[in-house]
Amino acid sequence: MYDFHTHTFLSDGGLSPVELIRRAHVIGYRVVGIADHVGPGNLEFVLKTLIRDCEVASRRWDILALPGVEITHVPKQETDALAEEAKAIGAKVVIVHGETIMEPVEPGTNLAAVESEHVDILAHPGLIGPEEAAIAARNGVFLEVSGRKGHSFTNGHVVRVAREAGARLILDSDAHEPGDLMTREFAMNVAQGAGLSELEADSLLERGPRDLMRRIGVAHLT
Ligand SMILES: [Zn+2]
Ligand SMILES: [Zn+2]
Repeated sequence: MYDFHTHTFLSDGGLSPVELIRRAHVIGYRVVGIADHVGPGNLEFVLKTLIRDCEVASRRWDILALPGVEITHVPKQETDALAEEAKAIGAKVVIVHGETIMEPVEPGTNLAAVESEHVDILAHPGLIGPEEAAIAARNGVFLEVSGRKGHSFTNGHVVRVAREAGARLILDSDAHEPGDLMTREFAMNVAQGAGLSELEADSLLERGPRDLMRRIGVAHLT
């Protein structure tokens, strides 16, 4: 399993970063990205903590842990600068918390995310429009199919719009608790529930992560 979007108690998740990595390792994950919620004030603290924990865990265990951030409910004009700052500090994966229908995310956040060259994944983009999806396709920003309850309501729409625009998709758990980490079977069910065929779902779980890791310049574990 590959999963680039999880949370720890550095934001609103339940576990420490190292325990989350441990649990992901034990259930068979090869790669886990941790992307806690950040704004301008906590970005540096969260990221420096994750960088240290991910480095130690990846060195000692057979799992690749990637430090990241999820830029969350930040005024859209600040998105690009924060994403750039995160990459400069050492974030491997920069995610923007998209316009999920579950929360009052500022309209225009999806657009700000896909326009930024420093953003890798637009998480749960809700009812994303074709223009934003086209820009995502052009800039190589991945649109997320969400395994998270609620955020996943619009997965079918995201798949359709991404397909029409030629945008890349990635499936993530958005785990906040250990029980949210996905088995491959659950991930396949989520993907097929979003309207993908079994073959397409399989490709989403295999090729999607490999392409993303190429984008972020991280070597793939065998
Ligand atoms: Zn959260
Ligand atoms: Zn999240």
